[in-house]
Amino acid sequence: MSTIIHSPSSGPFDWTPIARDARARVGTLRTLHGGAITPGFMAVGTAAAVKALTPEQVRRTGTEVILGNTYHLAVRPGSSLIRNLGGLHEFMRWDGPILTDSGGFQVFSLAGTRDVDDAGVTFRNHIDGKLLRLGPDEAMRIQTDLGSDIAMVFDECLPATATRSEVEVSLTTRTIPWEIRSLSHRPTDGRAVFAIGQGGLHADLRRACLRELTSLPFDGFAIGGLSVGESHENFLSMLDVSTSSIPELKPRYLMGVGSPRELVEAIGLGTDLFDCVLPTRNARNAQALTWDGPIRLKNAVHATDGKPLDTTCPCEACSQGFSRAYLRHLFAAGEMLAGTLVTAHNLTFLQQIMKQAREAIFAGSYAAWAANFLGRYPASAGLPEDIKER
Ligand SMILES: [Zn+2]
Repeated sequence: MSTIIHSPSSGPFDWTPIARDARARVGTLRTLHGGAITPGFMAVGTAAAVKALTPEQVRRTGTEVILGNTYHLAVRPGSSLIRNLGGLHEFMRWDGPILTDSGGFQVFSLAGTRDVDDAGVTFRNHIDGKLLRLGPDEAMRIQTDLGSDIAMVFDECLPATATRSEVEVSLTTRTIPWEIRSLSHRPTDGRAVFAIGQGGLHADLRRACLRELTSLPFDGFAIGGLSVGESHENFLSMLDVSTSSIPELKPRYLMGVGSPRELVEAIGLGTDLFDCVLPTRNARNAQALTWDGPIRLKNAVHATDGKPLDTTCPCEACSQGFSRAYLRHLFAAGEMLAGTLVTAHNLTFLQQIMKQAREAIFAGSYAAWAANFLGRYPASAGLPEDIKER
């Protein structure tokens, strides 16, 4: 079964479901900079670049949306510089949709000394230690400077060890008020604002948070604070509670999750959009993703292997016949081409998962396709624990 769907053209933000299979859905996303099909994986371009690839190479992986980061771009080179040079699309020469993360995750994970109050966070940035201020007003202003098609609200990201009462205080005094405040800066030019549901590992708090947020005119809803070290059972049950709490007609975005098994399970629970550094970061660490699990190219077993990473893969590396032995050599020799080729492969691999998932949803066979995928892809993939950093 092969269903060819073309992404919609440019226009004010819109997301429309066009096919359903149980809870999984296919949808079309429209933005001022072109469209995308969901379920879709967004490539992380934190500092206005998807590491190791040109925009054209990113596009050839099947990627339709790039993710930029408010915190990183505000610290360096500064959002006013990007605005004065025509905005982030022009600056990085990517004319497709861009979603910008609000910076909440980075402020709480990367910044040095910080002082959190009810209107935002004052912190020393991790590059030059300068004092900066980020809150709902600043995050929205910076994202307007960047001109992203989808802006994320600023939220407080708590560590996985936060207690229930800490989560409650965070939601009621900071995250939810900050998100509501972000709406006062809602763009009127067709760009979108997504809210972020938090609530730790407490189903009732996640439901209550999303109940409040979904009563407001946000264009889409993200699920934050998952895959931060919780058990797989907790991950699935919190995701289930969250997607069930977001209206059917709104796009659902699971933030920072990109391990192949979790993507397939999340699509089954009705999730539409994803981002993660996993495919790009692991590529630079000589890990290639395949349908049978990740391959560590530094292992000696690949030293004389003349086969490509995957004989069916349409990526730049596999389709041009670059062998596992050659890729292993490039890593050993410290050649930059190694990171480029394996990044192109890994992003293509995740986009192939998305494409097959969409085709299975159209065919009404998602459960069978997912069971087949999960039966083949190993549960314990041995991936690094630090993949959450964005
Ligand atoms: Zn490939």
